[in-house]
Formats: sequence, C-alpha cells, structure tokens
Amino acid sequence: MMSLEPRVVPISVPTPFPVGPVNAYLIDGEPLTLVDAGPKTEVAWDAMLAGLADYGRRIEDVGQIVLTHAHMDHYGLLRRVVAVCNAPVLAHPRAKLWLDDTPGEWARRGRYFSEFWARAGVPAERRLRMEQALSASVDYAESLMPGAVVRTVHDGDVVQMGGVPWRVLYTPGHAGSHISLYEPQSQQMIAGDHLLLKVSSNPLLEPPIGVQQRARSLVDYIASLKRVAEMDIRVAWGGHGPPVLNHRALIDERLAHHAERTEQVAGLLTGGPRTAYELTLDLFPQLPTSAVFLGLSEVVGHLDVLETQDRVREWESDDGLVRYELLIDSAEAVDGLE
Ligand SMILES: [Zn+2]
Repeated sequence: MMSLEPRVVPISVPTPFPVGPVNAYLIDGEPLTLVDAGPKTEVAWDAMLAGLADYGRRIEDVGQIVLTHAHMDHYGLLRRVVAVCNAPVLAHPRAKLWLDDTPGEWARRGRYFSEFWARAGVPAERRLRMEQALSASVDYAESLMPGAVVRTVHDGDVVQMGGVPWRVLYTPGHAGSHISLYEPQSQQMIAGDHLLLKVSSNPLLEPPIGVQQRARSLVDYIASLKRVAEMDIRVAWGGHGPPVLNHRALIDERLAHHAERTEQVAGLLTGGPRTAYELTLDLFPQLPTSAVFLGLSEVVGHLDVLETQDRVREWESDDGLVRYELLIDSAEAVDGLE
C-alpha cells in the first residue's frame, strides 16, 4: 500500500557559525517544498545543490519555499534560490521585513542595540567591538530580489506540503519571526530552531517593531515550548542536528534548565540592584566579546521572567543605566501568594 505520509528529507548545509551545519528540508510532492536554506556562502550553495541532486532534484524544481525564521543561517541563500526557481516564499510577517530589506533591518537592529547595550551597562569600548562584530556578519544574508513573492503566514494557517495540509504554528522565542509546521496524520513537525536536540535554543533579544514594546523572548519561548509539549509529535525536524523523537522529555529538560537559571539570576540580585551587564558577568565571568550578545539575551530573558512574576522591577537611574531590583527573593513566596 502506498503511504500518504509526506517524506521529509534533510539537507545538511555548512555554516561558518559556532552552531555548525543547518538543516534545510525537502518535502516531496506537489508542490516540491524547500524549508529554509543555508547562509550566503559558496560552500552552502554547493551543499544545497548536492543535497537536491542526491534526491534527483534541482533548484529549478522547487515550487515553494517555507522559511521557519529570519536568521541568516536559514535564509541567507534564499535570494539565490528564488532567482533560479522563482518560487514563492512563505514566511511570518516579521520574517518578511528581513526578506524585503535586510540592510534596513540590520541598521534598525544596530540603532536599537547600541542604545540598549549602553543602558544595560556594557562599557563603551566593548560596545564598539560588539558593533564591529555585528557588521562583520551582515554578508551572510541578503534581501530577496524586488518582485520576489513573499506570502505571509500566521498561526492557524494551513499550508499544502508533500500533498497534504500542514498547520502553521506561531512559535516565537528563539526569533520573533519563528513558525513551525505540523502535519497531524503522520505527526511530523517542522520545528526550525524551536526544538533542537543537541543545543538549547537561545531566546534572542530583538528590537521592537514600530511603537510596540520589546518582545520578552524567553517568556515567549517558554509559552511556545509549553504549547508544543501538549501536541502529539512523532518526529520534530529541527533546524540543526538530528530530529527530536521524544519532544516532551526534551521540553521538560529545557524548561527545568530555564527555571533553574531564573532562580540563579534571582539569587544574584540578593546583594542589591545590578545592571544586566553586571549580572551577565556574574553568570559568565570569562565571556568573550563575541558572546556578550548571547549572554545578555539570556540574562535579560530571565529578568523578563522575574518581572512577569512580579519578583523583580527595573528602573533607569540618573546615570542612564537600567538596574534591576529584587522584590521577592524566592519562587516559593510567589507560589504562596497565588
Ligand atoms: Zn538556526
């Protein structure tokens, strides 16, 4: 009997980043769907072509592209892919901002973070080196060509892949543009970087859009994890590393890790108010400049969690620095109030 189960074929694509290779996916059937692409490098392009060729396909055959999130290891090559296959790109509206205007988004991000880092207490000299590092990575992705078709998708939308309908889930946290896709018959999920077997996804700081508040990435990420834990998933195909076959155990592990870190950050505040940068150095004393952004993202994420629990408050003092102060110093006290 012929199986109707959509076949998801991973294509491993090298990246120059510490995370290692990224997984693109090919989903056979009408239309032939490509999920994500590698960063904008020649080796990544060659790996994409080779991965498709192994499966008897060419870029020209791709009829649709789905982008899980707008990080450069996942969309860097899309301009080049679309230039060949002319297929529409399905992505979250926040990812479309990057697809339409990558230099503009980098600039917006740069402006926001130079101020954010200053207020977080990062010394000027280190900020300068962080900004230089940021500008060195802009070459790994680019906007799509004018006229390329981007179809925005939202939570609950249905996308046809491999001849069957997949449901779009908005799973913000690692990125505000992050979507996952779920096929209920075969219980397969395209999970992007929302669920990774080998590494804990970083809920990264992002600039707000328009007049909105900055997203609370870790708060969002925890909510997205809890939502996915409720679902029946046989295999979750992640953006890096092998697929996840036991998502509930993995999510439990990730949630426990984050909860532990949140308490650790709360503990660091018992000695008095601290800036986010001071807390980052408390947590990671040997942090190289290249990792300060990740460290700050993590610390601010936990501070956001503590703020939503009404355990911490932040204020900006006359010196222009934002400091965080502990209001209640144990999770038990919060439980006791409920
Ligand atoms: Zn990634």
